[in-house]
Amino acid sequence: MNILVLNCGSSSVKYQLIEADNRKTLTRGSVERIGMTGATLSNKRHDGDEIRIAGDILDHTIAIEYILAVLLSRNHGVINDKSDIHAIGHRVVHGGESFTDSVLITENVIKTLRDNIELAPLHNPHNLRGIAACDVSLPGVPQVAVFDTAFHQKMPKKAYLYGLPYSLYTQYKIRRYGFHGTSHRYVSDRAATIIGKPMAELKIITCHLGNGCSMAAVDRGTSVDTSMGFTPLEGLLMGTRSGDIDPSVILFVMGKEGLSLGEANTLLNKHSGLQGISGVSSDMREIIAEVKNGDKKATYAFDVFAYRVKKYIGAYAAAMGGIDVLAFTGGIGENSPEVRAASCEGLGFLGIGIDEVRNSSQEKEKRISAEGTRTAVLVVPTNEELVIAMDTMQIVKGT
Ligand code: ADP
Repeated sequence: MNILVLNCGSSSVKYQLIEADNRKTLTRGSVERIGMTGATLSNKRHDGDEIRIAGDILDHTIAIEYILAVLLSRNHGVINDKSDIHAIGHRVVHGGESFTDSVLITENVIKTLRDNIELAPLHNPHNLRGIAACDVSLPGVPQVAVFDTAFHQKMPKKAYLYGLPYSLYTQYKIRRYGFHGTSHRYVSDRAATIIGKPMAELKIITCHLGNGCSMAAVDRGTSVDTSMGFTPLEGLLMGTRSGDIDPSVILFVMGKEGLSLGEANTLLNKHSGLQGISGVSSDMREIIAEVKNGDKKATYAFDVFAYRVKKYIGAYAAAMGGIDVLAFTGGIGENSPEVRAASCEGLGFLGIGIDEVRNSSQEKEKRISAEGTRTAVLVVPTNEELVIAMDTMQIVKGT
């Protein structure tokens, strides 16, 4: 079964066509700068063939038409007919409290997604636009929504309630939701497979460290706590997001500098994190390069980043009453031995110890814990698109 996996953002659509039965990606690509000048589609086929097309890609419907044209193209395509696309799986950022699992998209689901727009105003409208565009270009093809929040929906109340008036929860649904759920789910599943133990016996901490960063405590297959909150701003230090701060700080700065709500939002989401502390970059590669050059502020940024990962490891081990597996993923988690080593330093009391040679090896999926240590420390490249394709196949076959 061929599944078109779509991740629709405000001005971009990322896609993969996946032959789900064989877990094989036939082709992948993205449309960037939708609705702007210089819009392009880039596609890379499984055999390495690459193509880049510029065009007037004014909206998501036109973006989907461009994607279909490439999938069907004689020279660069992978299918002969639109009917070779058997289902579509959408990454949807926010399912609120309404969705604890992936669902077949129906009129009712669309209505509920609209009701949740307020929770994810920057993301859900574009997901809805992508769904509508597929209705136009691929009428009758079943569509499935896979939510970033769903995996965390079984968290206990003590983990998701904030210390605010309870009425804010009932009235405005203010609570911890958590994000990156598809990634935490894939990585924890894969981690159990790698160490060859049943999920039902494992306490796993997953660290998704990319531009956005989050961690999850996965107790016997259920996410019981996660570091992102009502929005993806909470928790770890990120590329440009602050992560945890005392909420009073922002009120103080707004007062001092006369910031509007929008400006305060930009400060926390775009000018903070690695970028904010270092003044160098939001990119961990550049931070590490500057640390090696002795740059002080880059070193502070690196240290805060790793220290916070370490603190959450301790917190989640406490939440679960132990830890069997620690798994790193995301651009930083998969590629930076420096961050992994610094985050795990001094955690011998949790049975965590890293083997330097394994940590620096070129293997992508690997076990990096030192011989004789109690906790398995793993690097597991994430594959959210595969999860979306597999969920979509399962739901469509079951209908
Ligand atoms: P996103 O969250 O946008 O999907 P990624 O998961 O691709 O992002 O992660 C991007 C981050 O990964 C950037 O901070 C980048 O610097 C970092 N990264 C990629 N390769 C390396 C590397 N070799 N060493 C350190 N950091 C890396």
